[in-house]
Amino acid sequence: MIRPVVTLRRRRIIIDVDTQKDFLLASGNACVRNHRRVLQNVRRVMAWARMKNVRVISTKQIYDAGNGHSYCVLGTEGCRKVPYTVRQNRVTFVADGCTDLPRDILKTYDQVILHKRCVNPFDEPRADRVLGEIQVNEFVVIGAPAEDAVKHTVLGLLIRRKPVTVLVDAVGSHDRGAAEIAFRQMEAKGAKLAETKTLLGSSCLRLVGVCECDRCQGRLQKKSFGVGA
Ligand SMILES: [Zn+2]
Repeated sequence: MIRPVVTLRRRRIIIDVDTQKDFLLASGNACVRNHRRVLQNVRRVMAWARMKNVRVISTKQIYDAGNGHSYCVLGTEGCRKVPYTVRQNRVTFVADGCTDLPRDILKTYDQVILHKRCVNPFDEPRADRVLGEIQVNEFVVIGAPAEDAVKHTVLGLLIRRKPVTVLVDAVGSHDRGAAEIAFRQMEAKGAKLAETKTLLGSSCLRLVGVCECDRCQGRLQKKSFGVGA
């Protein structure tokens, strides 16, 4: 019998899907349409996890240069995670097709970052193993994009009979309609849809800081339209 190495008796774990600069910053190559609100809520969730000592499993899309991908390309800034989604005490696994894992990774580290060369984490052997072996009462999912990576992650967890809560206001999407359909699918398969504040309580964190765009920096006011016209 193979001894499970990532079993952890805890109440909750955060599943942080592809919170990379290309998806969540206005300067990114595939920025979601609702990045400002999502960044705020992702930041709240991460701050809460740090405070409550909740572990984080993060996935990260990484593609080799020159194979047609315009975002999350290895070695680019856009491929990197948004800074506040990264914990100090973390371990990163590259996507190499192996399933090897050191023992007790979730006891040793606050965060496990799993690279994937695809959208669906269950297509990547090590990510499949980690996500499949974790035993907790609640998988709390945040990240982007709703209509592909988040959907595949959530549906894959549900197929493996994991209890999943999706924080819909901490999930970014490129297409509002497609995201809505994806959320309904997740719900139909058994995911709980919730808002960040119901899980964490409200917080007065307003500015997003990490994104330099006018909306995130609070410089864009409705009244400013027409200036210079
Ligand atoms: Zn922004």
